[in-house]
Amino acid sequence: QTTSLPTAAAPEAGPAPRTIRNFIGGAPVDGVAAFDKFDPVDGSRIAVVHEAGAEQVDRAVAAARAALDGPWGRMSVAERARILRRVADVIDHRAEELIAAEVGDTGKPEALARELDVARAAANFRSFADTVSAAGLDSYLTELPDGRSALNYAVRKPLGVVAVIVPWNLPLLLLTWKLAPALATGNTVVVKPSEETPSSATLLAEILVEAGVPVGVVNVVHGFGAGSAGEALTRHPGIDGVTFTGESSTGSAIMRAVAPRVRPVSFELGGKNAAVVFADADLDHAIAGLARSTYLNTGQVCLCTERIYVERSVFDDVAAGLAEQSRRLRLGRPEDPATTTGPLISQGHREKVRSYFELALEEGATLLAGGGIPTLGGELDGGAWIEPTLWTGLDNSHRTVREEIFGPAAALIPFDTEEEAIALANDTDYGLAAVTWTSDLARGHRVAQRMRVGMSWVNTWYLRDLRSPFGGVGLSGIGREGGHHSLEFYTEPTNVCVQL
Ligand code: NAD
Repeated sequence: QTTSLPTAAAPEAGPAPRTIRNFIGGAPVDGVAAFDKFDPVDGSRIAVVHEAGAEQVDRAVAAARAALDGPWGRMSVAERARILRRVADVIDHRAEELIAAEVGDTGKPEALARELDVARAAANFRSFADTVSAAGLDSYLTELPDGRSALNYAVRKPLGVVAVIVPWNLPLLLLTWKLAPALATGNTVVVKPSEETPSSATLLAEILVEAGVPVGVVNVVHGFGAGSAGEALTRHPGIDGVTFTGESSTGSAIMRAVAPRVRPVSFELGGKNAAVVFADADLDHAIAGLARSTYLNTGQVCLCTERIYVERSVFDDVAAGLAEQSRRLRLGRPEDPATTTGPLISQGHREKVRSYFELALEEGATLLAGGGIPTLGGELDGGAWIEPTLWTGLDNSHRTVREEIFGPAAALIPFDTEEEAIALANDTDYGLAAVTWTSDLARGHRVAQRMRVGMSWVNTWYLRDLRSPFGGVGLSGIGREGGHHSLEFYTEPTNVCVQL
């Protein structure tokens, strides 16, 4: 809900909501309106966020352009890499603040924010400092028919002012995954975090300045997508490219926005990821892995499994084992060490997930676990909680099995042959990630290679080497990021040819 500034604060219990402003040219900047940010744990209002209008977006792009033409644009690779390593050190040093920001916005367990989100943020900066330091470029000695030769070599230049638009599920991890290579290669950026998670991006902008990134290199504008800061940014004539993580339909809107000026895009989009369990798998290991891939971050990871194909002879064992794992999950407050599972991001997202719970039953599903909204008692009942859920009795013809739900829910479906399992897994418009569970080495390689996805895991899930390519096919994205793949998106090579 957007209001004119200043917001008319209704009387409420608890601490006063924080005010979060845009960050432009190194300074906090007011917006044209403000919106409320609610805690998904209990529904209380935790922040009032300044929404950037066209004017603030324009200022942010101008600040980024000026910084590109300043010392940052002329800095050596070694110096930029040194600054990125310092950013990682400051992230480690201020980890508790970042954890609090991330947990406050998302309600995720503190331990998860510490081990995954904040640890990966620091690792992203270190990894791209290494990658850019080690990167080489093509050169060719070209032999000419007259016996002379020419030297061809390429130099890399930054893309320019890059729009970085990110979602709410792993806000700091996904932002730094794009920011680190963009900065490593000398770009300047305007970041548009999700309206649901404004805090960690704003704090990171301060951290970057503390670590020595010149002001104006990273600017943050807050707001929504269509008709707000997101759309204003993607339509702005001063941006040289867009790197985006979010829903496939938003990617499509962004493509339309940049089409008139033919700007490059890098898209990491939605998924409807499959896991395949063969009867020869170590079933205990597979069931534990499936529980993690279905329920991590309350199912709100783009890589999460929502379709589980199980070889018929072990279907009942896997179904019973996974249902047991889902009953063991502990929904609770983020600071409680016993908590395994937080709420969904918002009441709005819970409505979407709940609508799929209803649809699944209409489509003839049998509930194996969950399926509803839990009663946790006290102030938690004002939060966006939902039960970890499993269904049987569905197949690939059902919408529940075809559309991304982005919650802690999966359908289990039996199969009889390897060919059938591959066909079922690949029968989707998406193509982000897949997991194969088997103890047959050759089968593991064979099936993993035939998955029509960007990332294909065998006997594990979400094990990442930051140098490896990350992205999706079909509705799941355009391009790859990671290691030198990121360098390719964030730079433009110029080939120099010298007649010798
Ligand atoms: P979303 O697409 O609704 O929003 C993402 C960002 O885009 C937000 O900052 C939003 O404000 C902005 N936005 C929305 N409409 C816009 C427009 N028209 N122009 C410019 N910006 C706009 O996605 P979400 O709900 O925040 O995130 C969940 C989605 O992200 C899921 O589909 C999930 O699979 C996907 N995701 C993908 C990856 C990946 O790496 N492939 C990673 C995480 C999440």
